[in-house]
Amino acid sequence: MTANEVRVRFAPSPTGSPHIGNIRNAVFDWLYTRHTGGKFLLRIEDTDRNRLVPGAIEEIMYDLRWLGIEWDEGPDVGGAYGPYLQSERLELYQKHAAELVEKGLAYHCYCSAERLSEMRKEQEALKQHTGYDRRCRDLSPDEAERLNAESGGVAVIRFKMPLTGTTVFHDYVRGDIAFENNLQDDFVILKSDGFPTYHFASIVDDHNMRISHVIRSEEWLSSGPKHVQLYNAFGWEPPVFVHPPLIVGPDRAKLSKRHGSVAFSSYIEEGYLPEAILNFLALLGWSAGEDRDLYNTDELVEKFTLEGITSHPAIFDLSKLQWMNGQYIRSCEIERLVNLALPYLQRAALMPESPTQDQLDYVNKIIELLQERLHLLSEAPEMSSFFFADELDYDPKAVAKWFTQDYVLDLLALVASKLESVYDWNVEGIEAAVRLAGEEAGVEGGKIIHPVRVATTGRTVGPGLFETLEVLGRERVVSRLRRSAEKAAQGGNLD
Ligand code: GLU
Repeated sequence: MTANEVRVRFAPSPTGSPHIGNIRNAVFDWLYTRHTGGKFLLRIEDTDRNRLVPGAIEEIMYDLRWLGIEWDEGPDVGGAYGPYLQSERLELYQKHAAELVEKGLAYHCYCSAERLSEMRKEQEALKQHTGYDRRCRDLSPDEAERLNAESGGVAVIRFKMPLTGTTVFHDYVRGDIAFENNLQDDFVILKSDGFPTYHFASIVDDHNMRISHVIRSEEWLSSGPKHVQLYNAFGWEPPVFVHPPLIVGPDRAKLSKRHGSVAFSSYIEEGYLPEAILNFLALLGWSAGEDRDLYNTDELVEKFTLEGITSHPAIFDLSKLQWMNGQYIRSCEIERLVNLALPYLQRAALMPESPTQDQLDYVNKIIELLQERLHLLSEAPEMSSFFFADELDYDPKAVAKWFTQDYVLDLLALVASKLESVYDWNVEGIEAAVRLAGEEAGVEGGKIIHPVRVATTGRTVGPGLFETLEVLGRERVVSRLRRSAEKAAQGGNLD
């Protein structure tokens, strides 16, 4: 590592599916390293053994790679400062914890879970500040030995926080923040199972992995004094701490299910494009200081600086994300868009698992038509189902409105026969034929367009009518018009 090299880690705990806030942090970590030419590390913080969720590590990696985020060092790719799974670094934490005990800056605590819970209840009843009462902080060697024997050798190691004064924590975004030391706990650094706590492992690793910048969510701001004191105790230089703001809903409440899904995977499932999500997440707590929303990934990398990170809460606006996704869909290469949309059509059983070339060509034309209207890939089946239907699913309201009008029966029959013989099956040819049929039936404008649309698609809205008819193809269009004419002849009933 060169001096001043930027090294930033994303350090998720594999305690469940990543949520949108976790991934926003990863995006910031990654963008900053790509902007500076630094290194991006993935470190898995799996020390809370009770909260481990099988498959969570794989899911984190999948989500990051789905977004196009690769790490330079990490559990699966290795690196000079590994291992990158904290559970494989226990000796290191134990060694460092012992060092602090040796220096008199940490101590063994033999208090049982029962004693701690009693203590807490009492503090709560007396409306006192809750926290460890430091019974084991200054034990004589004899007392320590007695308690050790009593507890059967079960002990944790606690850090000695200063009892007076303040700890000043410097956050890049918010400046200096002072914390009263007497409100801080003698927190556990090493648990009785030999695993470190988050605070301890995080500091030991950030130092040993030469992390230069810790960019993580604002919720960790209050851990600042603990971290500063640990750095002091070891005599290590702390990294630059950067806390991007919390993500809130439009009502300014902490982001929760109420505001839409918080699980990152649900955004993948709904059919957002990776570059849209990356763009959207980058703007949740960062701004380039421009009146602009759309940035491709290269532009984000170029513009992402720590100065642009904001301190006010980042508002999660789902409609903006959907709009943004629509923009990326419009500019997506058609071939890629078809590949992205195809699985949605397959899941909805509109397309077989192994489509023929003809079917693929048809889907291609359909998606080209939908490209201007889609916001989400998952909308594709609903928007396109009429293209695949053998029997149209008519909108009853549209039928009641249009198929009960006297002229419609003649109009549909006329349109069918004109289209049957139109020479050029393209938008211009189709439009001319339909308008000519309208003229012969004595109607124009919406009086032609609406019933023909209902007759061929079952609906009142959709992409341009003539474009739709072109894609549907002559055979489908003519047979649907005839079938709909029969329906109109029966006053809208056909069952
Ligand atoms: N494991 C912590 C988390 O998942 C990491 C916090 C940090 O970045 O220091 O939130």
